[in-house]
Amino acid sequence: MGRVPGQGHNAAGMNRLPQLFDSNRRWAAGMEARQPGFFGELTAQQAPRYLWIGCSDSRVPANEIVGLAPGELFVHRNVANLVLHNDFSCLSVLQYAIDVLGVEHVMVVGHYGCGGVQAAWEERQLGLVDNWLQSVRDVAHYYRDQLMQLPDDAARRDRLCELNAMIQARRVCRTTIVQQAWERGHPLTVHAWVYSLADGLLRDLGFCVSDLSGAEAEFGRLAGLGTIGAEPRR
Ligand SMILES: [Zn+2]
Repeated sequence: MGRVPGQGHNAAGMNRLPQLFDSNRRWAAGMEARQPGFFGELTAQQAPRYLWIGCSDSRVPANEIVGLAPGELFVHRNVANLVLHNDFSCLSVLQYAIDVLGVEHVMVVGHYGCGGVQAAWEERQLGLVDNWLQSVRDVAHYYRDQLMQLPDDAARRDRLCELNAMIQARRVCRTTIVQQAWERGHPLTVHAWVYSLADGLLRDLGFCVSDLSGAEAEFGRLAGLGTIGAEPRR
């Protein structure tokens, strides 16, 4: 149903989303009450130690999950938490975070129940985003035989979420940005984690790399399904 002409914009200005501005004012007042001068300090500088590369999914709010305040976590999110070497948005965030802000940890965080990963696994047609998700399809195709050994489709989708996060973390390591940072001795660790919507908890997938040789060893581990992941699957 379309909007009735002439009425839509009038509905007491509701199209301007006043409820979100009300909510914002309460949030800002609450922050300032808990920590007087909070916003003044934030304006002066940001010095986050972490870069979070996660999924755009509304159920995976980066700062809240790890209990970090504004200013403490630099964030890049896209559908299915992908790191593509021709994506200048992601690469720019990575470069700025490392070279300018000096972050020392980059975490790629997938999540179980990821709609992007699921669509790729099921070969569902969603439109333009299918192009974006092609690299997840490639991962699914590459690991298909091993994924099919898992007991059911839910387990396969979960494992694909884990594999995808680890492969994106590997891609972070392979960027010129990270390789040059390591070459000049910048302390930087790249992690692959997965988040569970079911219990709100993060799992460390065991990919934790701080130098080029470590990265290569982890790549080797990635090649064999079943040897990946330090934590038990959900
Ligand atoms: Zn997702």
